[in-house]
Amino acid sequence: MAKWFISTEELMPASGDAKKSWGCPMPMNCSLDDRQRELQARARRFAVDVLREARTAENLPTPEKRFAATKPAYERMIADGYLRLCIPESAGGDGRSLVDTALVYEELYTENASVALTLLGTMLGLQPLLVGGSADQQKQMLAPFLETSGAPLAGFCSSEPGGSANPAAPPPGEGMRTRAVRRDGTWVINGRKKWVSSATGWNRDGADLLCVVCRTDPDAAPDKGISILAVEKPYEGVVFERAITSPGYRAHLLPEFSFRDVTVPAENVLGEEGGGLPLSAASFVGASALVGVLGVALMRAAFEHSLHFARTERRGGIVPIIEHQAVGYALVDAKIAIEATRSLAWRASAAIDARHPAAVELANHSKIFGSETAVRVITDLMRVVGIDSYDDENDPLNGLLQDALALPIFAGGNMGVRRRGLHAMLANPGYDPLAALDRS
Ligand SMILES: Cc1cc2nc3c(=O)[nH]c(=O)nc-3n(C[C@H](O)[C@H](O)[C@H](O)COP(=O)(O)OP(=O)(O)OC[C@H]3O[C@@H](n4cnc5c(N)ncnc54)[C@H](O)[C@@H]3O)c2cc1C
Repeated sequence: MAKWFISTEELMPASGDAKKSWGCPMPMNCSLDDRQRELQARARRFAVDVLREARTAENLPTPEKRFAATKPAYERMIADGYLRLCIPESAGGDGRSLVDTALVYEELYTENASVALTLLGTMLGLQPLLVGGSADQQKQMLAPFLETSGAPLAGFCSSEPGGSANPAAPPPGEGMRTRAVRRDGTWVINGRKKWVSSATGWNRDGADLLCVVCRTDPDAAPDKGISILAVEKPYEGVVFERAITSPGYRAHLLPEFSFRDVTVPAENVLGEEGGGLPLSAASFVGASALVGVLGVALMRAAFEHSLHFARTERRGGIVPIIEHQAVGYALVDAKIAIEATRSLAWRASAAIDARHPAAVELANHSKIFGSETAVRVITDLMRVVGIDSYDDENDPLNGLLQDALALPIFAGGNMGVRRRGLHAMLANPGYDPLAALDRS
């Protein structure tokens, strides 16, 4: 049965040696089977038929209006099974592998990053439940997300006003500020969160499920005192404060909001009580691999536009500008970067599917390389197209760059991914620099 996420035990094996608990060979075959090709083609048709049209929502005046206008497109994604595809078969969904998910996301994101990110935000919001939840919790809480109707949303509530890069900081650092206290068989949550995709729902009435990273023991060290609590609808006390206006993802909701005495049953702890930090890290592994794919999608859209422009535009000269060597070489370099990024992202996804020892490292490489390459390549392509790439109404490149600019700073900013995810790994004496080689 498919189970592509990395569990907390696999992320940090007690022995400190990942090879002892994993050890599956690295898949090297990059060819897709017939089912995957059909999945990819179906997602491409859907993206062109449904998501391209939904970009008109981006012209509305406020972030909330723009987000609300994407609901019909999101409902179509649910109806066509794209959320079920993000939920592994072992948990009742249709997902067989992260590679499948990567194929689908490239197609959806190429046409409409805002709506595709709403789906990805829900997928991320479900990860603590899928990775750390008990069978009973999954059965109960996943139910609305397995339907092929409605517009269910889930949010992974980690980021806070004032910064979230140091949740494990000991005093006098504040670390994670949101708190939950036990009261009469419940947890009562108070605190503020920011940037959590779709968390306040379609009408400020909250997402269907919020997985809240919060301090559950103020006296314990952070690695023992932070937990993830599941907040399921119906609930009271999630208070919308404002929708952030950002230059990219114009039809995606990024709210600032607070938890005011939000009360959940004591049994709504996901994973171990006090085990919130490793569960958060484990929940991000699949998303990190996928960020490389998001970079590919934005670069691909930019490249297709720029190639067409270069083949058809003379800009007052005698020949189409692709005939100029400087333009041709710039397009060549962009295409190489796209292929390299896709290969890395697919390899990282396949390594996660195979539970390979190098999976977490490759996922972090995909996150950093894919996000930073996308910003560079789209900027280079804007130089190919020239000044018209700066005309928002008539050219997609500036909008694609605005979406790409978020990739290095979201889903764990690349500073933090380098520090927590990779630097710490390299500093460990047990680190094997050749793990990804799959040598005997
Ligand atoms: C489109 C979008 C969607 C998002 N969706 C979600 C979501 O669903 N859920 C969610 O919780 N968040 C979400 N976020 C927020 C985002 O993922 C995180 O808040 C962000 O990745 C963390 O930011 P940061 O690392 O810059 O942290 P900050 O705490 O803001 O740190 C700022 C900077 O300080 C420096 N810094 C801080 N500490 C250190 C240190 N110890 N060592 C070295 N440098 C340091 C680094 O340069 C860092 O970049 C989203 C953001 C966007 C734009």
